[in-house]
Amino acid sequence: MTGLRLDLIDIPRIPEERARRYREAGLWRSETLDEMILTRGSATPDRCALVAEGRRTTYGELAALVGRAERRLRAAGVNRGDTVVVQVPNSREYVVLVLALMRLGAPPVLTLPSLREYELDRIIGLVRPSSIVIPRRVRRFDHLGMVQKLKPRHPYLVRTLVVDGEAAEPDVADLTGLCDPPGDDPPAEGRGAASPKDVALFLLSSGTTGSSKLIARTHEDYGYVIRTTTEIAALSADSVYLAVMPATHTFVLAYPGVLGTLAAGGTVVLGSPEDPRKVLRTVQEERVTHCAAVPGLVKQWLTLLGREPYDVSSLKVLQVGGARLDAPTAARAKAELGCSVQQVYGMSEGLTNYTRLDDPDEVVFSSQGRPASPADEIVIVDEDDAPVPAGEVGQLLTRGPFTVAGYYRDEAATKRAFTADGFYRTGDLVRLRPDGNLEVVGRIKNVINRGGEKICAEELEELVQELPGVSAVAAVPMPHPGFGEIVCLYLVPGGENAPDLGDVRRHLESRGLARYKLPERLELLDAMPLIGVGKINRTELRERAAAIAAGVG
Ligand code: AMP
Repeated sequence: MTGLRLDLIDIPRIPEERARRYREAGLWRSETLDEMILTRGSATPDRCALVAEGRRTTYGELAALVGRAERRLRAAGVNRGDTVVVQVPNSREYVVLVLALMRLGAPPVLTLPSLREYELDRIIGLVRPSSIVIPRRVRRFDHLGMVQKLKPRHPYLVRTLVVDGEAAEPDVADLTGLCDPPGDDPPAEGRGAASPKDVALFLLSSGTTGSSKLIARTHEDYGYVIRTTTEIAALSADSVYLAVMPATHTFVLAYPGVLGTLAAGGTVVLGSPEDPRKVLRTVQEERVTHCAAVPGLVKQWLTLLGREPYDVSSLKVLQVGGARLDAPTAARAKAELGCSVQQVYGMSEGLTNYTRLDDPDEVVFSSQGRPASPADEIVIVDEDDAPVPAGEVGQLLTRGPFTVAGYYRDEAATKRAFTADGFYRTGDLVRLRPDGNLEVVGRIKNVINRGGEKICAEELEELVQELPGVSAVAAVPMPHPGFGEIVCLYLVPGGENAPDLGDVRRHLESRGLARYKLPERLELLDAMPLIGVGKINRTELRERAAAIAAGVG
């Protein structure tokens, strides 16, 4: 069976009238992302574009590598209209691959390297990709083994491409030579097979209900995000951007992130968050000017800086987002790192808010900023979708030139998450300040935000219910000093042998769930607190979990 072609009819599109306005206003431009990056880079072929594991790649080499990767992918059978699941950690290969797939018009579906069989099974079933690209193995995890297990369930998935290690298996194509050696390949220049209205890439929604949803971002809308946010973060050809968290997160990839830095002609340094010492050493050695992080990482770095000397004087802008940053940490970051702090509150569905670099400290420390584009529309509503009085808390709804019109191949989820006139229901509770900035004060969606990685309560609960001895279960966030939140599971036993935390974690792991989603606390209850008829009172459970974390529960 051949790979399924990407069916453009399935892409929820912004209504033509609004799209025309964005084009006429010059917000959406007739340019593909690869073109935007490679054309800019071709003016300075000798400048350093990427630093990964100590290896430097110039803009000239990057264009040659993208050209080669494009040819290799084509030779392996990947064509325009295919979708390709990409599960590759931060590396030179990752950046080359994403640009090459965009040029080919075969949009990459970006998945976190930490996702496992359970999540990938659902993503693959939804997007029906012709190919998947993985490393053979990362640390002790066998990605190829996982894909071999998944393949029989997905006959359209005809190609597995590995970016490292020799491929001995007959059905596995080898992309090892993707980046090594650079060779004399002709550079990829101008526009590839993709057109600006095409889907450039798919992101995963962190979701409000059930398992992952797919978000199709076009070259036009993503290009506008990149141009706008590059300006807001004051990125230029002299900037050095350190990507610490996985660049599959849109925050790190394009807000302005890796793609924004490349589009500006700056240098991207690819790293990882595990070792804070290495992060600070990299800042010192590479003279990093820009970095993006979740609040938990910032706290780690501040603690380390208090103990060990690092020269972080090159840092100009630290973007903090993915979860709410508290004002004292924001103030400490500014004072101790000696740079501007920029709060970022955004979502893969599109909208992104920033405090601006010239805002007063009070705004930067205590708000999550304002929309990046003047064309972004925001409304704050109550439970009946009626706008709340000025300054009151409500759910944030939004539509605009970055924000998609629905989820890919999921009408039910689209109906739940978008209003009839195209506003996305963020599930976040916010307050609009008189100065136009937003404060994120909570959320109504059942999501646990563990250090910026979102965990859907419903997905966990469904899996825990599979265990014997469980009558009812609810997953809620419990405050945590490092991660912000962790998963606390409230469980009502249904018989003698109620599972303990170890049983639950073993079960979830055996079902192939990503490790970061595993509950870290389990509390037994005689009965679930309910509101109305049969609806779990999650507010009460959240309060109980918070009381336990505070040592008063
Ligand atoms: P994702 O689509 O995975 O980037 O997650 C988006 C969600 O993360 C938002 O809807 C918020 O719930 C949360 N989020 C992102 N940035 C912030 C922030 N600065 N403060 C509070 N919550 C945030």
